[in-house]
Amino acid sequence: MDRYEKLRYWMVESQIIERGIRDPRVIEAMKKVPRHLFVPEDIVDSAYDDRALPIGHGQTISQPYIVALMTELLELKGDEKVLEIGTGSGYQAAVLGELAKEVHTIERIEELAEGAKEILKNLGYKNIVVHIRDGTEGLPEHGPYDRIIITAATPDIPPPLISQLKEGGIIIAPVGERWSQHILKAFKKGETLERHYLIPVAFVPLIGKFGWQES
Ligand code: SAM
Repeated sequence: MDRYEKLRYWMVESQIIERGIRDPRVIEAMKKVPRHLFVPEDIVDSAYDDRALPIGHGQTISQPYIVALMTELLELKGDEKVLEIGTGSGYQAAVLGELAKEVHTIERIEELAEGAKEILKNLGYKNIVVHIRDGTEGLPEHGPYDRIIITAATPDIPPPLISQLKEGGIIIAPVGERWSQHILKAFKKGETLERHYLIPVAFVPLIGKFGWQES
């Protein structure tokens, strides 16, 4: 076992299992995906710390526990088509790639999207496609989706994403104010969402037509 693998196993034990994540597939994925390859080189030694980390352009890679929690909430079995809004480093997309059939992930900052594409390609993921555009408008050409995950703070669920979610599908997102939100788990029921608000979180803002305006 190399140094990073040891740190990763320790991360999964102490930050993820200890805090109540139970889905064995999520635990295996978190043990497998090399998080240290998704962070900037100068902070690689902090990759398995219990916190979000900067990835440039004022953006972050989320705390490992939050990645595990949001992933578990998606209830993935393996045959789903998933849409992620907010590729960032590509780490969450890799975790989703381990657990779903097909993953489309959208990033608005070109340099981040290109960086994520490169890492995901080098790691051999063939079921993840990175798109560069405003994710608040979704990706209708590949929908509808079984699951949608937004990994940036949104004032509410953008209407195009509700339209692109399958009936009975699940959407997970940090919903609330620009700098403080709650994780929302919602099920699509007809044209509306059955909403369950969970723990408080602080994500960077979702910037776009149906998100926040750039400040
Ligand atoms: N999931 C990422 C990871 O694993 O590293 C972390 C996401 S980071 C907290 C939020 C990301 O959402 C940023 O990279 C940001 O540029 C992106 N973002 C913000 N608004 C967006 C939009 N309208 N469409 C696509 N991406 C957006």
